[in-house]
Amino acid sequence: MSRSSYRGRFAPSPTGLLHAGSLATALASWLDAKASQGIWLIRIEDLDTPRLVKGAEQGILQQLAQMGMMSDEGVLYQSERKPQYLEAIHSLNQGRLLYACQCSRKKIAQYIQSHPIPDSQEMVYPGFCRPLEPQICDLDEVNYAIRVRIPKNTIIKGQNLHQEVGDFVILRQDGIFTYQLSVVVDDAAQGVTHIVRGQDLESNTPRQIWLQQQLGLTLPEYLHIPLVVNDSAEKLSKQTKAPIIWPQNSQEALIHLYQAGCHLELGLTKPHVTMTVSEWLNQAVMAWKNRREQRLGFFNTTQ
Ligand SMILES: [Zn+2]
Repeated sequence: MSRSSYRGRFAPSPTGLLHAGSLATALASWLDAKASQGIWLIRIEDLDTPRLVKGAEQGILQQLAQMGMMSDEGVLYQSERKPQYLEAIHSLNQGRLLYACQCSRKKIAQYIQSHPIPDSQEMVYPGFCRPLEPQICDLDEVNYAIRVRIPKNTIIKGQNLHQEVGDFVILRQDGIFTYQLSVVVDDAAQGVTHIVRGQDLESNTPRQIWLQQQLGLTLPEYLHIPLVVNDSAEKLSKQTKAPIIWPQNSQEALIHLYQAGCHLELGLTKPHVTMTVSEWLNQAVMAWKNRREQRLGFFNTTQ
């Protein structure tokens, strides 16, 4: 089969090893790429240094390899991409889209306390610093957070960015580039055409599209898949103590893949003991392709 122009990716943060939830996301992005004869990439999102766990990035790559998923090109590490993020900030700054913010968490929290918002909404920065700093002059000596200036009536995918999200941070006060900025810069640099990720990130999509538009980047397509939850209906995560996946042999790897496949509604039967990981993956690609073409399950609502 010939290669298509499809380029997908899985972009874990090495804040811990993969659990059933992150495995399902990895598998979904891999299946979508392979069902399209595309390229699948792994990107390690290792910018948030205080949250990183030593050795987790190697562990994640090993976990994925155990499940038969390997990056078709070299693995990209965000920690090596800071000049590119700075370049994007320069470009946004030239468009007068940024301002410096020195508000403490406490100041914002106090404001929020006196101006309560419904539970369903996220905290919207009240814009204290918006009028103070028309433009950032010196990006080399940054000791403040940098926020984007979202114009009024900016509506993307039905979300009013100005009202519902507000002026979000792209560089934190501690000098760390945020997810919103780095993900947009890297998806463009890697030529990513399709993003398959967990539903928890869906509300981030409009602000990322806004950044893509301001930076003149090509917009990828998005698919958000349902989250794996535990018995208390909480998203699996390190915080909810989700068990780590570490198969000792291909039989165990198959069981994890099968469970991830059940979550993705592939409708496959339990794998026979003689089945190999790559045989199971081939079967899964066919099932994914079918469901996507027929717009079954979550393909019906999210694409
Ligand atoms: Zn501020």
